[in-house]
Formats: sequence, C-alpha cells, structure tokens
Amino acid sequence: MNPFRYERASDASNAIALLAQAPNGAYLGGGTNLIDHMKLGVRHPDLLVDISRLPYDHIEVLADGSVRIGAMVRNSDLAADRTIRARYPLVSQALLAGASGQLRNLATTGGNLLQRTRCVYFQDISKPCNKREPGSGCSARDGYHRDLAILGTSQDCIATHPSDMAVALVALDALVRMQGPRGERTIPLIDLYRLPGDEPQRDTVITHGELITAIDLPPLPYAATHSRYRKVRDRASYAFALVSVAAALDFADGVIRDVRIAFGGIAPMPWRAKKAEAALRGKPASEELFRQAADAELADAQPLPGNAFKIPLTRNTMTRMLLDLVEERNQP
Ligand SMILES: Cc1cc2nc3c(=O)[nH]c(=O)nc-3n(C[C@H](O)[C@H](O)[C@H](O)COP(=O)(O)OP(=O)(O)OC[C@H]3O[C@@H](n4cnc5c(N)ncnc54)[C@H](O)[C@@H]3O)c2cc1C
Ligand code: SF4
Repeated sequence: MNPFRYERASDASNAIALLAQAPNGAYLGGGTNLIDHMKLGVRHPDLLVDISRLPYDHIEVLADGSVRIGAMVRNSDLAADRTIRARYPLVSQALLAGASGQLRNLATTGGNLLQRTRCVYFQDISKPCNKREPGSGCSARDGYHRDLAILGTSQDCIATHPSDMAVALVALDALVRMQGPRGERTIPLIDLYRLPGDEPQRDTVITHGELITAIDLPPLPYAATHSRYRKVRDRASYAFALVSVAAALDFADGVIRDVRIAFGGIAPMPWRAKKAEAALRGKPASEELFRQAADAELADAQPLPGNAFKIPLTRNTMTRMLLDLVEERNQP
C-alpha cells in the first residue's frame, strides 16, 4: 500500500475543504471497499478524509411523509430500522442479501452507493482494464464475463454495478443529497449513475469533493409496502448478484394499477425497468403478461457467450416475483 495521510473531518465543511486541497484524496466511510482497493493497488489516494463520524447517522420521517436516511447510517442499522422495514421492506431485504453481518456493521449508506464493480479484472492490476486504467483494454470481453452485464454496456466496458441496496432505492425513486465545493444539490439517485460509454472510469456524475449527505425516500404508501427484493447468486450468502429484481406492486381487482421494477447484476448501474413497467400498468395480471413485460425490457440486451443465461434468469426471476406479490395481495 502507498503512503497516505489520514484526517478525521470535524464537520461537512471541513471534510469538503480538506478534499478540495487534495486532488488525489478520497473520503473514507466504512472503508470496506476503498481499503480493499488500496491494498490491491487499484487505488492510491494520498489523503483519506474520514467522514464516518459526521452526524449524518439518523433516519428521520419528514413532514411530507418522506424518509431521510443519513449517508453515515450503517447498512445493519438501516436494514433493522422499524420504519424502513414497515414502509420499504425491499430496502431492508436488499441490504440483508448483501455482504456479511460484519461488513454491514461497518459499511455506510453513502459508501454502499459508490462501491465499485466486482469485475475480476478491475481488481487485478496485472490485467488490462479500461475502468481502472483508461485505454488499456477490456480483459472481460474475451475473458471471464459470466458475472457481467447484458444491458447498457459499451465496447469499452461490460462491468456490472454491485450494490443491492441501490437497486431497491432506484425502484423507489430515491433522491440523493450532496454537498460540495460549489454548494448543495439533490438529484434522483438514478441520475447519479452513468453508463460506461467511452469513459468507463466514471461510474457516477459525482465531482471531486462532493459529499453524499443523505438519501430521501418519497412516500409511496401503497406500492412500497407491497414490495420485495430477490437476489439470485451462486451461494446462499456472501455472494454478489447474478441477477436481482426489486419490485413494488399496486394491484386491485386483478389489475396492476402501478408497478416499480429495477434490476441488479445485469447492467453497469441499477437498472430501472421502465419498459417493463409500461407494459404492465393498467393490465390484468397474468404470468404471460409478466413474461412479455420482462422481454420488452430485455429486448436490447447484448449478451456474450458466457452471460447469455442472464436473459432467461432475469425473465424468470421477475415473473416469479410478480406472481408472488400478486398471490400475497390476493390472500385474505
Ligand atoms: C467480501 C465482500 C462481499 C460483499 N458483498 C456485497 C453484496 O453482496 N452486495 C452489496 O451490495 N455489497 C457487497 N459488498 C460491498 C459492501 O456493501 C461495500 O463495500 C460497502 O457498502 C461500502 O461502504 P463503505 O462505507 O465501507 O464505503 P467505503 O469503502 O468507505 O467507500 C467507498 C467509496 O465511496 C466513497 N464515499 C464513501 N462515503 C461517501 C460519501 N458520504 N460521500 C461521497 N463519497 C463517499 C469513498 O471515497 C470510496 O470511493 C461486499 C463487500 C465485501 C468486502
Ligand atoms: S468489463 Fe470493465 S471493469 Fe471489467 S475488465 Fe472490462 S473495462 Fe475493466
């Protein structure tokens, strides 16, 4: 590991000012992703600004009914929170499907959103990787790409975004609040992320020194309480998603009134399935309709030989989950 300086920020302004003076510095949340990358030689920040003790560690219900999650709230605390479990169960399920108990105790909400891809070549500095070293090439296209993306890829990169929590939050239209050298801004979480295009080194639109301070979850009384996160992976725990689906369903008299769907494990960012949602809204629920809606979303998929299995796996996972949600709704 390269030498680096460590500073503990006293407040947000102090954190932002410290990083503004260090173009190669980084914020340190729980460190469960960043420190691993420093040990592997993937990243070499010369300054770590520890933000983990900043007072953004609360979950509060706002006057308009939305819920604000501080960026330093630990993943374990968020998953266990009563309001989150009651009003947004898919967020809790997504968190508990990720990492391990020990990791979740350390990992922060802000850090979770900005964790980087698990593509094996990104983490192996002996191999070319456009995301780690722009212009060096992509080892995955002709190499091991079983875990990688089928939607939203580019010639330069086919990596997947790894966060489970972010998939659930994107399905719920979460907003992300940031503070930086040029002031504050709040944007839809989905707009934080970007597709690789010809700049796969940029996962997000966040600029140097911007600090994520909170996530806002809008009130969604009907759909969000009736929601699920399902993750398909190689092991029952401690494994990243091959495919995951977050869904919230508003269903009455056999008809889908509203639906939110997002996919994980198949794209470079949490993938909101807008085409599938449009194909479902206002229609009578049926297995056939769910399959057609999944196919509408997956029509643009560009799989490689090693990951083509993700197309039927995504279709089946989404269909099964929507059938389960309808069945649950029909129970007295
Ligand atoms: C073995 C293992 C298995 C895992 N399995 C899963 C899994 O199945 N599913 C899953 O979703 N995750 C999984 N994870 C990843 C884990 O969830 C992330 O490592 C964790 O959420 C990152 O949070 P952190 O606070 O530790 O981030 P850090 O490592 O501290 O930071 C990550 C990045 O975010 C930046 N950052 C942190 N906080 C902020 C902020 N507030 N504002 C701006 N920038 C910030 C840092 O500078 C850094 O670039 C796994 C990790 C490991 C090690
Ligand atoms: S898929 Fe992306 S992260 Fe993986 S080797 Fe190719 S460029 Fe690197």
